[in-house]
Amino acid sequence: MLKQERYRQFIEYFSANQPIAETELRYTNPYELLVAVSLSAQCTDKRINQVTPALFQRFPDVISLAAASVDEVFRYIRSVSYPNNKAKHLVGMAKMLISNFNGEVPGDIDQLQKLPGVGRKTANVIASVIFDIPAIAVDTHVFRVANRIGLTTNAKTPLAVEKQLMENMPEELFGIAHHWLILHGRYICIARRPKCEVCPLTYFCRYFEKANTEAALLRAEKARLKKAKDIKKSKLQKAMDRGLKKISVDKKN
Ligand code: SF4
Repeated sequence: MLKQERYRQFIEYFSANQPIAETELRYTNPYELLVAVSLSAQCTDKRINQVTPALFQRFPDVISLAAASVDEVFRYIRSVSYPNNKAKHLVGMAKMLISNFNGEVPGDIDQLQKLPGVGRKTANVIASVIFDIPAIAVDTHVFRVANRIGLTTNAKTPLAVEKQLMENMPEELFGIAHHWLILHGRYICIARRPKCEVCPLTYFCRYFEKANTEAALLRAEKARLKKAKDIKKSKLQKAMDRGLKKISVDKKN
């Protein structure tokens, strides 16, 4: 199947079956989303949603977070991955928001990436979700699922995946396509073993197509070997029958 056709099927399926797809991180304003997405690197949204209510209650805005000590922030986020670094980054990020951006979350992807702890993925999420800027954030799920389905070809880095998706996807779908891929990767096309048996995308998925072709080739090879074995067995049987017949004739004589 051609790549364009996979894109067509992908868009058609999700537009019809998941017209609304959003982040599972809980937030009420740009500041909270920025904090939540920064915390979510190498961690699950579920875990982040467990720690952010208390964190946001204690530090409800950029000003309170900028005035916090790293140690205190650490105490609120100790159960997420890399809490030391993330606590440092959160305080640094809040300080920079005040010093460079009047305490507001910027809507520009390059400016966002200047904030401590904010990489391209986080910047793209903020730009897309808060500011409606056409951007595709590539996290581990987007990277894996886009590759398995066949929306990308030989894309070895998140940036390469981002570029290929943006080249082939209609701009108005950048934001939602990111969530489609994340949610599909989180619940069905999981990293260790994709649940192809319950996946509705098998009819255009490259991974599934390849796996099935390989399985069909394996079945054909097994059948060929069995046939060869049967032929050998039948030849042997015939030879034995001939031998027995000869012995019985000899005996009679
Ligand atoms: S068919 Fe399998 S590999 Fe393809 S998207 Fe679905 S779960 Fe993932």
